[in-house]
Amino acid sequence: MIGWSIYFTVLYQQHFLLWLLFSGILGLIIGSFINVVVYRLPIMLEKVWQEEAKFILGVSSSAFLEKTYNLLYPSSHCINCHHAIRWFDNIPLLSWLILRGRCRDCQTKISIRYPLIELLTAIITMIICSFITPSLFLVATLIFSWYLLIAAFIDAEKLLLPDCLTLSFLWLGLFFNLYGGFTSLDDAVKGAIIGYMVLWFVNTLFKFLYKKEGLGHGDFKLLAALGAWLGWHYIINIILLASVSGIIITSVLILFRVKSAKQPIAFGVYLSFAGWLIMICNRTDYWLF
Ligand SMILES: [Zn+2]
Repeated sequence: MIGWSIYFTVLYQQHFLLWLLFSGILGLIIGSFINVVVYRLPIMLEKVWQEEAKFILGVSSSAFLEKTYNLLYPSSHCINCHHAIRWFDNIPLLSWLILRGRCRDCQTKISIRYPLIELLTAIITMIICSFITPSLFLVATLIFSWYLLIAAFIDAEKLLLPDCLTLSFLWLGLFFNLYGGFTSLDDAVKGAIIGYMVLWFVNTLFKFLYKKEGLGHGDFKLLAALGAWLGWHYIINIILLASVSGIIITSVLILFRVKSAKQPIAFGVYLSFAGWLIMICNRTDYWLF
């Protein structure tokens, strides 16, 4: 056993509350990073696409687009007054509560989405850390969950599932199962192929009948990734659970006029939810009880 995991196992078995607190803090920090990825990754991609379009059209780049913009740079700042956020105003969840959801400099409202994503990540991290003993499986389950959170939030906001996210998620799943992680490599490879092909076939049929796209190609890749992590046996369960939860939640949103019936559905959100729930329900063999 690797040295560090012994310390965590002692913490888990003998100081469970401290372990939970530790996992909650980790969840808040990761949640804060997830916020950055959810906000910045689509902007970074749009900049790249604009650059590519300009290159193809032979138009010169604007100075604005040439400015460095990535997950780390520029540092966090208010989107209204552009003041850099001080370190003590950047503490996950707490700073938002202390500042009552407003920028310290210009009093512009800061969306409640940020503390909510941090809180959700912390809760999910704590749930996983409370049921799975410290091990490589725990690390893999956490990575799996955090990836799905990023995918779900980007899809919900932008109707976009970036390739850099879905494809790296797929490769990670295959890599983990190369060493007999969640399932055999055989089942994982079949999961990736079947996951992609099923939705591709549904979409092709839809296109043939209605002459328009029914699903985004990111959905195929996300389901392929879920298949690579969980194995081909769960593909049908994921599709069923994602479709049923998607229909119920979309109906409620339409009923309460939050969403119109004409707006497209971010199916990646429901695929992520279904994949996560099915993974959690099927990891009982690594749970302590
Ligand atoms: Zn401000």
